[in-house]
Amino acid sequence: MTTTLTADLCVVGAGSGGFAAACSAARLGVRVILLEAADGVGGTSTWAGVNNWEPVAGGTGLCTELYESLRRLPQAACLQARKYSYHPDRPWGWYDRDLQNSDYRLSLSRRSGVPITFEPQALDDVMRHLLAATGNCDLHLGTRFLKTVVDRGGRRLQAVLAQTVDGRDLRIEAPMFIDATADIHLARGLGCEHTIGPEGPRVYGERSASADAHLVLNNASPCYRVSPVADGEDPCLEPEPADCDVALQDIRPVTSIRTYPNGDLNMNPLHLMTGAEAFELGARAREVAFARARLHWHVLQSRYADTFGAWKRTWMSPALGVRETHRLVGRYVLREQDLDAGLAAQDHDDIIAIADHSVDFHGARPSREVDGPYGIPFRCLLAKEVDNLIVACRGASFSSIGASSCRLSRTMMVLGQAAGTAVALFGADVMQADPQELRDQLSNDGAAPTLAHGWLDVMADIAPIPADERMPRG
Ligand SMILES: Cc1cc2nc3c(=O)[nH]c(=O)nc-3n(C[C@H](O)[C@H](O)[C@H](O)COP(=O)(O)OP(=O)(O)OC[C@H]3O[C@@H](n4cnc5c(N)ncnc54)[C@H](O)[C@@H]3O)c2cc1C
Repeated sequence: MTTTLTADLCVVGAGSGGFAAACSAARLGVRVILLEAADGVGGTSTWAGVNNWEPVAGGTGLCTELYESLRRLPQAACLQARKYSYHPDRPWGWYDRDLQNSDYRLSLSRRSGVPITFEPQALDDVMRHLLAATGNCDLHLGTRFLKTVVDRGGRRLQAVLAQTVDGRDLRIEAPMFIDATADIHLARGLGCEHTIGPEGPRVYGERSASADAHLVLNNASPCYRVSPVADGEDPCLEPEPADCDVALQDIRPVTSIRTYPNGDLNMNPLHLMTGAEAFELGARAREVAFARARLHWHVLQSRYADTFGAWKRTWMSPALGVRETHRLVGRYVLREQDLDAGLAAQDHDDIIAIADHSVDFHGARPSREVDGPYGIPFRCLLAKEVDNLIVACRGASFSSIGASSCRLSRTMMVLGQAAGTAVALFGADVMQADPQELRDQLSNDGAAPTLAHGWLDVMADIAPIPADERMPRG
């Protein structure tokens, strides 16, 4: 038997984009149903162990509020200061806790800002609390979207079909839907144009586009946590796993290390699995990647015993960190020319978020910096083929180059906030949204689609970060 539920808006996926979409719409009076396949919220930021907000322009609005809520809890979030840059003898970039500074604005620039690290469970808790506090959001955890139901004309989504972990079938009917599943399951189910991998130079005329003949995707990472061995406790050396498909000598130990607020380390191994491998392995990818992660830790502990001999592995993230899969080809595609032009030279009247992260392909292709903040137009969230669907996640309408810059969790959150706010303002007429009205509402709600409030480098009242402590370029 299928249970039918109704709402003004159905959001699918409660990661960064979906959380912010549901929260902002519900706060503005929209009755929201939020479906999430996992047992908690936060998506990649919590369940894949990516407990790090890279510095980025524009991470304002709900992001600021989350940070402030986390700071009120013990050991839930802190700014980071660089400890080590990558070095051939020491193949890790390592950030430690910054115990002196806590001003959130210091994280609002890729060029001169610092990262923030948080406790994943605390973020999950705070997000759930904010959703519940709206009084308007019905969160269904452990509920997987399965299928779309469209009207006769095919341009309107009428309902989605979903199933709970205990096998109950749900049908959710709503006039508006937001796809925040990262891999754009709704948009693809509806037959919206989409793509995967690099486009090649002819598609958008991007100067650094490469025409790879095979599928090239940003590497995937199995993140894990290590904790110091307590006084008197025996060192806990990771045994060489028997079930790993990669030989010990082939493990690349390159790791991005961030320090949890309580002093534990988040290990993000950067070269254990290519994005294409993760895509092709599908459901098996997590198991294969985490066997490699155990071998990775064994290599670090045995090869760099002076540094890691007195640490032990205490947690493997429940999900594999996947950076890149399918992307929508929507009403506008964010491309390299937007990144190069920057906010001042872009000619769009519907910019609803700003970002400035480098174009970072994570091992798939050479990476490069972006000079300053650029804007993301609202049309990147809109499908061409369906009138009541917004896509607010890393699978929105970006070129491969655009996505490799803008996919940061806080940028996804701001896009989610824009999507939820648009539904509140324009309901099912969202395709005709007045961009200025949307931008005004976002500004009222603390999101900053302008430089003055969203970019550390132009903030007059905050001390600049000394050049040698800035995020490394390149
Ligand atoms: C290893 C790694 C390191 C990264 N490092 C950083 C970093 O340092 N800083 C930074 O800011 N960003 C980083 N990123 C990027 C950033 O984390 C992601 O791009 C961002 O979190 C994606 O947010 P999202 O909302 O698009 O998707 P997600 O957070 O992945 O959320 C998608 C949600 O949809 C749910 N879902 C999927 N399918 C269904 C379904 N059928 N039914 C119901 N629910 C479904 C999922 O369970 C998930 O909760 C990193 C990413 C990775 C993988």
